Amino acid sequence: MRIWHSKGGKVCRVWVSAALAAGRLWREEFIMRLVRRVAGRRALLAGLAVVFPVGMAMLAGVMPVQAQPAQQPTAGAGQVVTVYSYRQPFLIRPVLEAFTRRTGIKVRTAFARKGLLERLRAEGENTPADVVITADFARLWALKKAGLLRPVESEVLRKAVPAHLRDEEGQWFGLTKRARIIVAHKDRVKDGEIARYADLAAPHMKGRVCIRSGKHPYNVALFASMIAHDGRDATRDFLKGLKANLARKPQGNDRAQARAIHEGVCDVALLNSYYLGKMATNEKKPEQKEWYGSLKVIFPEAQGRGTHVNISGGAVVKHAKNPQAGQKLLEFMVSEEAQRMYAALNHEYPVRPGVQPSELVRSWGELREDRLPLTEIARRSREAARLVDEVGLDH
Ligand code: FE
Repeated sequence: MRIWHSKGGKVCRVWVSAALAAGRLWREEFIMRLVRRVAGRRALLAGLAVVFPVGMAMLAGVMPVQAQPAQQPTAGAGQVVTVYSYRQPFLIRPVLEAFTRRTGIKVRTAFARKGLLERLRAEGENTPADVVITADFARLWALKKAGLLRPVESEVLRKAVPAHLRDEEGQWFGLTKRARIIVAHKDRVKDGEIARYADLAAPHMKGRVCIRSGKHPYNVALFASMIAHDGRDATRDFLKGLKANLARKPQGNDRAQARAIHEGVCDVALLNSYYLGKMATNEKKPEQKEWYGSLKVIFPEAQGRGTHVNISGGAVVKHAKNPQAGQKLLEFMVSEEAQRMYAALNHEYPVRPGVQPSELVRSWGELREDRLPLTEIARRSREAARLVDEVGLDH
């Protein structure tokens, strides 16, 4: 554990980092800063360090907790809402700052790559968290299963979030959505060769398909939706056909499949739609723009049940100290203003009907989405993962 802070009362920061056993390094850093204007002086920083129990150090990758000052104090001035977020800071901070500007409610955030469920469980009633924001649906489902969320009764959220993208008991809500699309090489795959997920298993695709692990939650959710629509036997047959068509063993992340198409390893792959935007605009890794340039976008099932979608989402924590402010934050996040901003930050689709996605996202074509409730998908996830093992998709 390492603690450091400067003298003089101007800035005080505390880093806590810990490494624990079990052969794995875990690290946690917390900083909380409160910024106050002091009459007759220039702004000073009054540092306040909030150090969570050392036991929390077992939770990996947690980033600083930061207070974000209200620019124009309003009715919510003095209130604070604390957010635990799986989403990266750059994706969420602009929206949280807009919330503070609108309401005067300050937002503290703790970002984490994993481990928030364990952290919430360990903190129990003492958790400072009011809201959890996740980058995918599986984690919301797990949080609900663990009894860590509280139901929210909100007409605003019910109206803004379509029923298939939220929990039937109001325990979580979709905030943005993404489509599990098929990308194909723009020349090597002719128009009409692929229109459905099932076409990935068709004989004419032999040796032409790339996928990431069949056990990844993105693929498990898709396969679970196929079980719901077509039944288990048909989905098993699909997975067998898919395995027979693979150009290589499942590997890498979504973008690695796009690269493989660009490099001629395969012709088609499954991809979450926002990765197209990330590749198309990647200034740090401009080679990804070339991968993007090799692709064309196919919205599977566009003529039928619609393309499978998943969400990023949010929920109010069971032991929230300020559940009202938490609810207000979620309500703000589905407002027209926030939806446009939030969806565009990660090249996603707004959940709120009538709000358009960004120009880049629109350029890929129109999304006609499968409206199968996410809860139906979650209920079949385990079965879908079992089928992946049964057919040996990853081996
Ligand atoms: Fe992703």
